[in-house]
Amino acid sequence: MVGKLEDARRSYPDVPVHDVGFAISPPPVNAHTHLDLSRLPYFRGSYENFIRHVVANDLLRGVDAAGEGLNKIRGSGVGAFGDIVESAEVMRLLLQTSGLRGVAYWEVFAPNPADADQVFAETVEQLRAFREEHPDGLKLGLSPHTPHTVSGPLLQKLTRLAIAENLPMQIHVAESPAEISLHRNGSGPLHDLMGPFLGDWQPSGLSPVGYLAELGVLEAKPTLIHMVNVTEEDVKLVAKAGCVVVHCPRSNEALGCGRFPWELYAKHGVEVALGTDSLGSSPDLNVVREAAAARTLHGDKASPLALVRAAVKGGSRALGLAPPRFARGDHAAALYLWEAPHSGDVPAEDV
Ligand SMILES: [Zn+2]
Repeated sequence: MVGKLEDARRSYPDVPVHDVGFAISPPPVNAHTHLDLSRLPYFRGSYENFIRHVVANDLLRGVDAAGEGLNKIRGSGVGAFGDIVESAEVMRLLLQTSGLRGVAYWEVFAPNPADADQVFAETVEQLRAFREEHPDGLKLGLSPHTPHTVSGPLLQKLTRLAIAENLPMQIHVAESPAEISLHRNGSGPLHDLMGPFLGDWQPSGLSPVGYLAELGVLEAKPTLIHMVNVTEEDVKLVAKAGCVVVHCPRSNEALGCGRFPWELYAKHGVEVALGTDSLGSSPDLNVVREAAAARTLHGDKASPLALVRAAVKGGSRALGLAPPRFARGDHAAALYLWEAPHSGDVPAEDV
């Protein structure tokens, strides 16, 4: 039953009342992380310098770091998570670990259109091998890295594959403000950084979201990560396509990306989920603290109820999972108890 406490007391006068805080829900979902970056030192600075930081610390990346991150995320009390995976070793670790719920997204990075056919063939083969080796593991997904680090032809091929094989897809979009000028006219700090790697990649003259819509990528209903530097037109495109958007407020703040326009997504009825991103740009992998950070960032624009919904239902939708339900007779340990807004995280077993 949902209603006012006084009404419940009237209806059930003999039932004792326990104050469990602000809300009770199924466990929250961390919709976006990179477990293999769990040994990357926490970074604050521009997005472009963060990319340099990731590249410079490439040796800290890998299966040992992913194992540490996996322990942290399991300890955070989430019901499911979405992880971006760039090595076969890490993918096998995730697929072989029992008791996990969520999606492991195989990352694709290939900006040069000349590489599209070969990289697509390798991706198909790799996904087939993962599926055959571990048919009952964590759900397999696909993640074209960004609209500028995967060429247009390859984005279109991956989109058709995702639709044909019902693969959940995640893409980082509109994270850094510099992404706008890169896509509009091939200039700015992100172009200065990425230029040597982009090959024959050409700017479309559109916004990153407009470009994905033009290519038909939104038809696969990809989950769009970050989505900070967007226009209302972009948000309308996303609403029309039915995509879920993942908000990572602490990472956006650390990397100077700007404020996610929460109220714009609410206005157009876009489902929002929450993700921590990696430990390279987030102090921990706790998505409840991410919700608290969003509350601080957006103030009255994001109600506590909307934030809980984002962390639970939005997260499930972002990963393409059935919405979580709690029925009479289910064990109470399967529930998550939220303290009053601003006060953080209360694992169910502590209450
Ligand atoms: Zn990410």
